[in-house]
This record gives sequence, C-alpha cells and structure tokens, in this order.
Amino acid sequence: MNPFWSRHVGTLTPYVPGEQPRIEQLIKLNTNENPYPPSPRVIAAITAQAGDGLRLYPDPQSSALKQALSSYYGVAPGEVFVGNGSDEVLAHAFHAFFVQDTPILMPTVSYSFYQVYCRLYGIEAVQVALDEAMRIDPDRYRRPCGGVVIANPNAPTGLALPLEEVERIVRAQPDRVVLVDEAYVDFGAETAISLVRAYPNLLVVQTFSKSRALAGLRVGFAIGQPHLIEGLERVKDSFNSYPLGRIEIAGAVAAIEDEDYFQRRRAQVIATREQLAGQLRRLRFEVLPSAANFLFVRHPEHRAADLAQALRERAILVRHFKSPEIETYLRISIGTDDECARLAAVLAAIIEG
Ligand SMILES: *Cc1c(COP(=O)(O)O)cnc(C)c1O
Repeated sequence: MNPFWSRHVGTLTPYVPGEQPRIEQLIKLNTNENPYPPSPRVIAAITAQAGDGLRLYPDPQSSALKQALSSYYGVAPGEVFVGNGSDEVLAHAFHAFFVQDTPILMPTVSYSFYQVYCRLYGIEAVQVALDEAMRIDPDRYRRPCGGVVIANPNAPTGLALPLEEVERIVRAQPDRVVLVDEAYVDFGAETAISLVRAYPNLLVVQTFSKSRALAGLRVGFAIGQPHLIEGLERVKDSFNSYPLGRIEIAGAVAAIEDEDYFQRRRAQVIATREQLAGQLRRLRFEVLPSAANFLFVRHPEHRAADLAQALRERAILVRHFKSPEIETYLRISIGTDDECARLAAVLAAIIEG
C-alpha cells in the first residue's frame, strides 16, 4: 500500500463507471444516458448563468430548486434534499442513516455503488437473494437490520416492484430507514413519493441524469420527512456546503418547468424500448420486462460476453457485468430509433451468422 495513504484508503473498492471512449461513429448503449438532448429551456437557463454572477457562491440551500421540486411533487420544501448527482445524495444517505450496529439489507443484484459506500463508511451489508424471476421479494426484507436499500426499478434488471410491495418493505422496518433509489422510475414504475407522508422511515432518491437527459449536469435529490432531510443536511454541511453551482441549480429548475418536453421524450424512450424488446424477442433473446431506459437480455445460444465483444467490434457499446448472478445477461440502454434499429440489425447478423 502507498505509504502516504490513510490506512482506510487501501481498503476501498471504488466503483467503475461504464466506459466513455472516444470512438468515431460510436453507438453508445452502455451507461443508460438519455439519447435526446436536454430541453432547450435548460440550455437557455444555463447560458443565462454564464456571466458575472459566477463570481459569487451559489445559494448553499439551492432553495429555488427545492421549491421547484416541492411544488412538482406536492411535498413541502423541507421534505426535499438536493445534491451533486444522486450518487452524492445516496452517499450522504448511507453515511447519515446506515452506520448502525446491524448490517443493512440490499438485493444481491442491484446498483453496485451501494457496496462501495458500505466500504467507504464501514457499513456491513447482507445481500438478499432475488426470486426465480429475478424480482425483489418483499418478504425477504422482514428481518432485523440496520436499514434497507433497493432500486426501483431495479438495476440492472429493469424490473419494477409495485408500490404496494415497496410499502410492505417500508412497513416491515418501522425503526430503520428504507431507501428507495428511483433513478429510472420515470420510464415506467410508480414512485414511492406518495408514501412519504405516511412513513417517517422512507427516503426516496431520484436523479436528473436519466429521464431529464442531464447526466452531465450532476443533479440528484431525495424526498423524505423533514427529520430525514435534516440528517442529510447535517452530513452535507459537514462535507461541502455548495454541491450545486449556479448553473446546476438554474438548469435543473428549467428542466422541472418544461413538463411538456419531459413527457414527450420519456414517451419516446418507452416506445423505442418496447419496439426493441419485440425485435430482440424475435431473435430469440429472453428480455426481462423493463420499466427503465434499458433492456436486460440474454440469448440461449450466445454468451453475453461474446455478444458484447462482437458488438464492440462494430462500434456498438452495451454493458456486460461479470458477477455470477448476471453474467449471462447484457444490459442495453435505449438509444434513438435509428441507434436501436442498427443494434437489432447487427445482432441479427451476428446471431443468424
Ligand atoms: C445512474 C444511477 C444513479 C446515479 O445517478 P447520478 O444522479 O448520475 O449520480 C443512481 N442509482 C442508479 C440505480 C443509477 O442507475
């Protein structure tokens, strides 16, 4: 280990993001980015911030954004927390709520960053198996624990848990925080924000990166009762008072205000997803029913790693995970209609020889 590092640093296992290579004409279906540009109103709002005002620190509370989110979701401004991407919001939530004497629960197949935060903050985790259909089974989350984190829709399966089943998990753990990461919820699942009033232990986290096409802006948020938000604010103000700059705040507010654009783009991604799912099934892929902006698929005769490599050689990137539960699957982000048509054509050529 490097002699300059704190002892803790040598024990970390950092998250490895999907690659962002510079290949000409690349079709990039590996990191679940939105294939469409952000709303033109976002670009205008960001551009308007690029001036003398940047001398000054931004509002440390991001009040304009909390206000916009609170009216959009029908909650109080004191029930909203914002951060530099939902990754930062999740990290603060792990720090604020999950450093407990008992391990937290998470699904065996889930967003792999959760385990990275556990190492970072010294949190123990128990991995809870999915059922035979790769679904989260709420009954397996009834045991004593230090907290629960699930993604809904789950990543990378894309499967959504109905709201009643999320509520069963929340109800089974009244003394622990249940964190529901809804990064993909806008593509077809039901948000648990409507349950926040009833459950003091529920924290819902969302992001502008996927459905609002703003992965490059870095804005995420959490909604929960004020006592949970206060816990997050305490961690945030012990770490970085200004996680969002003026540009981020203005861009995110404009994104929330352009509801029409949001609805059109989201419907487009869902329509393309369903079309691609049909094409892949015709190529004999098993396609899990997705409520997200990606498909999780496998083929009975072709190894996922081989398909990913063959696609890569034709300048199409998809994601393959090496962990044993899911190594037979590929995760394919939904692109434009043209990108998905090209993917389907290339896969047909590979599979039909
Ligand atoms: C993409 C993603 C995030 C992180 O989103 P950012 O807001 O860009 O940090 C969090 N959780 C899940 C499940 C994701 O897929």
